Amino acid sequence: MKVITTLGDMAEYILKLTHPMGLVPTMGSLHQGHLELINRSCSENVSTIVSIFVNPLQFLPNEDFDNYPRDLNRDLEILKKANVDTVFIPTVTEFYPSDFSTYVDVEKFSKKLEGKSRPGHFRGVATVVCKLLILCRPDYAYFGQKDAQQVLLIRQMNRDLNLGVSIVTVPTVRDVDGVAFSSRNKYLSNSERKAARVLYQSLLAVQEVKSSSVDDLKNAIFKSLTKEPLIKIDYVSISDPDTLEEISVVNKKCLVSIAVYVGKIRLIDNFLLDNMWR
Ligand code: AMP
Repeated sequence: MKVITTLGDMAEYILKLTHPMGLVPTMGSLHQGHLELINRSCSENVSTIVSIFVNPLQFLPNEDFDNYPRDLNRDLEILKKANVDTVFIPTVTEFYPSDFSTYVDVEKFSKKLEGKSRPGHFRGVATVVCKLLILCRPDYAYFGQKDAQQVLLIRQMNRDLNLGVSIVTVPTVRDVDGVAFSSRNKYLSNSERKAARVLYQSLLAVQEVKSSSVDDLKNAIFKSLTKEPLIKIDYVSISDPDTLEEISVVNKKCLVSIAVYVGKIRLIDNFLLDNMWR
């Protein structure tokens, strides 16, 4: 497995890679969710690059950049076992030199939902992904449905900037109790980890509601989430899955998104709801 840490080495290396090539951008601290993306890329491409980069630009000043879980040796073992051919681990100082001043803002999506709660977050996401796509020049890039808004934003950026990459969305991978795998889960105490189950339970509860009223659907989610005293709700949203505009009547497929705090840890989850009952 080739490990590349400088932009110059990557620029040379991509000239020799065999295509099709898939890129899987990650912030490391790998789990089964990441592995699903990686296995998809390895099975669909001749070459796969996995990037590991904790991107300072997408963390707000009050967020956990310094404390974000990092375990490079374990990550490299996992990637070796997964038969990944290339790992790209750029340094922050080379990726964002001190005079760095170009940012990508996907205006249509960057201010809604997660963007409202975490202003500036998506400017950081779009900028890092844009740079990774330009540096690595993949045919395919893999992203998780777990971060549904991120996928929409990257698809839009890819179209707007004519980056020419095929964006692949991989379904959310969940632990046996329904909790979506996330690097931040390791910061949950035992009781918080148990409490986190209610996220997926609330998304299952909404599927049982035989009504097309968004209020009825949201009430089912609130009822489920508020049963758990360790949970503080940030937002519950039911939106058009193409535009993220909030909807009032469910008459087509919609995106149910939730963001909550379990103790100090912020978790998100989502579900694409069809209009089977509506
Ligand atoms: P991260 O390292 O958290 O930035 O995630 C890297 C990629 O893995 C992103 O495209 C995420 O959406 C994706 N991802 C994270 N968790 C999951 C999961 N549980 N299931 C599927 N994809 C995931």
